[in-house]
Amino acid sequence: DYKLSRRVNAIKPSPTLAVSQKAAELKAEGKDVIGLGVGEPDFDTPEFIREAGKKAIDDGHTRYTAVDGIAELKQAVCDKFKRDNQLEYDPANILISSGGKHSIFNLLTAWLDEGDEVVIPAPYWVSYPDMTLLVGAKPVVVEATIDQSYKITAEQLRSAITDKTRLMFINSPSNPTGMAYTAEELESLATVLRDYPQILIATDDMYEHILWDKSSFVNLPMVAPDLKDRTVILSGVSKAYAMTGWRIGYAAGPKPIIAAMKKVQSQSTSNPAAVSQHAALAALQGDQSCIDTMIKAFKVRHDYLVAALHAIPGIQCLPGQGTFYTFPNVTGLMRKAGVDSDIKLCERLLEEANVALVPGSAFGAPGHFRLSFATSSDVLEEAVKRIQSFAESL
Ligand code: PLP
Repeated sequence: DYKLSRRVNAIKPSPTLAVSQKAAELKAEGKDVIGLGVGEPDFDTPEFIREAGKKAIDDGHTRYTAVDGIAELKQAVCDKFKRDNQLEYDPANILISSGGKHSIFNLLTAWLDEGDEVVIPAPYWVSYPDMTLLVGAKPVVVEATIDQSYKITAEQLRSAITDKTRLMFINSPSNPTGMAYTAEELESLATVLRDYPQILIATDDMYEHILWDKSSFVNLPMVAPDLKDRTVILSGVSKAYAMTGWRIGYAAGPKPIIAAMKKVQSQSTSNPAAVSQHAALAALQGDQSCIDTMIKAFKVRHDYLVAALHAIPGIQCLPGQGTFYTFPNVTGLMRKAGVDSDIKLCERLLEEANVALVPGSAFGAPGHFRLSFATSSDVLEEAVKRIQSFAESL
């Protein structure tokens, strides 16, 4: 009997990774399962980026680097913020980490104490609450419903804030809903945040580039420059450049906070993989049209999937502005199936329809499931057929 830490006992393994694993196991047993749980592009890393990785090995970039990343990459991240977001940062405002998840974890470790509260809009990315718990802080979930396009309002934000609130997450475009906040919506959140100077804003821009209308991207410091020194932008190359396995993320924020995150990194993981940093450098500096190719494919699949799902009785599916996920409300389907939870519904869909989906409860939004369309149109069509036959059989 091992007595594990209270912190680790407070969290659960990532449910999205668990679904992918379950689907892979069933496939290995010979079952014809379609897995729509994955959270990564189905494209290969673009060739020029792969070549940069190979060259980095041959050039001997196989040793420790500076803890916070190589100077060229930090500069390239500054250039990216200037190019794409008209935001000025110095290399001292930047920390390169081993994936976006690692950037977030460094921030929470550096910023939060026991009992601090973190405002997390739901539907949320699965890791925010558990990472918050892991550092001993308290998630305060604010629920946004389908009627508000899954985006929280200024009033909701205000009523969630207490004198213990120290951090707020914004994730736009959102995993799992695909919804993006408009400039006006962010401005109204900013109005509230200005009244509470103790709150730091963590804007998770991981899907910045996976937007149908790419010129429409906005984040909080772009609409509220006065809050830039209270904001940490969290992002990375994983999704935009199909580089999930390379594990490179980055953060941009106030120098003292970035320095504290760097200190955490220096005593835990040290630098992110040197080879991967060189590949990420090529990605940020290279021809950005590689992103457009992927977005075109995602958009076609999105349009098909949203319409096809919405046409199934019991499913309500809103179009999103980006990402490669859709997050239908399936309360009607649950009623027809006679189940009282989305978890049970997903279990039945897996057993009876051979489709693996992530239940909405994992994202703090019961009554939904998340489908990833980072898979071919043929597979999506077959998945829809299966879900439809399941619905018709009820
Ligand atoms: N933030 C969001 C919203 C994500 O969906 C993900 C990946 O699923 C991440 C961060 C982390 O990305 P990475 O694979 O770079 O750790």
